[in-house]
Amino acid sequence: MSVARAIVICVGDELVDGSQKDMNGPLLSRVAEEVGHEVVGRLLITDNRHEIARAISRARTDRIDLLLISGGLGLTIDDLTREGVADGLGTELELDPEALRRISERYSERGRELPPGARRQCMRPEGAQTLPNPVGVAPGFLVHDGPLTLIALPGVPRESEAMLERSVLPALRAAGGDVEEPAIARMLVVGLRESEVHTRVNHCLKDARDIKLGFFAGSGEVEVVLCQSGPSEELARGDLSAAVEQLKGPLGAHLLEIRLAGCAGDPMREVASESDPLVRAVRDAMRNRCNTLAVAESCTGGLLAARITKLAGSSSFFVGGVVAYANHEKEALLGVHETLLRSCGAVSASVARAMAEGCRDTMGADLAISTTGIAGPAGGTIDKPVGLVYVAVSQEGETRVSRHLFPGERESVRRWAVSSALDEARRLLLGLPLLGAAVDE
Ligand code: ATP
Ligand code: MG
Repeated sequence: MSVARAIVICVGDELVDGSQKDMNGPLLSRVAEEVGHEVVGRLLITDNRHEIARAISRARTDRIDLLLISGGLGLTIDDLTREGVADGLGTELELDPEALRRISERYSERGRELPPGARRQCMRPEGAQTLPNPVGVAPGFLVHDGPLTLIALPGVPRESEAMLERSVLPALRAAGGDVEEPAIARMLVVGLRESEVHTRVNHCLKDARDIKLGFFAGSGEVEVVLCQSGPSEELARGDLSAAVEQLKGPLGAHLLEIRLAGCAGDPMREVASESDPLVRAVRDAMRNRCNTLAVAESCTGGLLAARITKLAGSSSFFVGGVVAYANHEKEALLGVHETLLRSCGAVSASVARAMAEGCRDTMGADLAISTTGIAGPAGGTIDKPVGLVYVAVSQEGETRVSRHLFPGERESVRRWAVSSALDEARRLLLGLPLLGAAVDE
């Protein structure tokens, strides 16, 4: 059976001219792949009715199976996706009275008048099904045209994401029928550079030619996506599970999480998930050992606390953080001795240790993490180059300090430092070896 082909289109002048980074395209591609389509193109198109229509008719001529579109569904005059789609399909727009009723209700509940363009938002190409928007106003729509399924979603990333989860995936699955759905595994790897992850994975899976691999790298974290289509879903899943098992050894303690999706799983739960696996891992590792966490940050300047508090529910374990950038604040807020700062320097294993221990004391936490380093671009020396970061993790009776040399520019170094600091905490709690190098103080 030939694989179904999909195209992703994101509409918006600001996307085309580069003033806004496309946040929806990757997610839409991922969803199309997860329901068994090969994504053969991703386009950025201006808010221009004719250009939108042209892209749609080209997709029809090319016998594309699935078009996922985002943007241009709002009520302002530059929102022209509905009209462009109708033109491209050679059809008219019709009003969805139910959608208009829902929107009118929303406005009247808030005591507001229905704005002039609101009716336009409830238009859809003839024969289309309206896709409700659970977190915003503009609804989307789904329409079939011969072999083509076309789905249009609002541009606001939070809205399109919510709709993908709530209505698009269920609809695509229901319509999928004979679509060959691949099995997918996502493996989150922490503390290895992307090139190292490539080497380990490719070496280990060199004989598994049918498995498609994707690598998505952040600073300090790499998501490896393995995708397997097979003669049957069961066989595909079996092959994929075997590959995941094979990878466990080479990735070792760097492997943080494995999520299997595809046939039986629910890929959308993961696509929509905003939670941070590394912070969750620290929280889970703390259970039954430590109740409370605090942080003392120098080179990460609050990024560590920000990342922890991004996790909903983090107040159940995170008590707070100190950004102690200047030496006198390391002394005043964390009790680091002036003599230590003078003899070892602020970027040193001893100061990292004193910061973590001082933080645990002053904030009364069971566990504390500290960071101190040289993020650059200036300030590096031969002994202490840019990218050098010390991380300390302290719990009752034990403080572990590690030395790291992170790659890249200032922001890369800081993000690597945050990710590695969290990982050092996870490793300490789980009795795993240090991620960074052990240091003599
Ligand atoms: P609205 O009702 O808010 O107008 P809409 O469906 O018309 O929704 P747009 O007008 O295209 O959507 O975009 C709304 C906002 O979302 C804009 O700030 C736009 O820059 C942003 N946006 C649109 N598409 C994307 C995208 N692909 N990636 C990131 N941001 C986007
Ligand atoms: Mg708009």
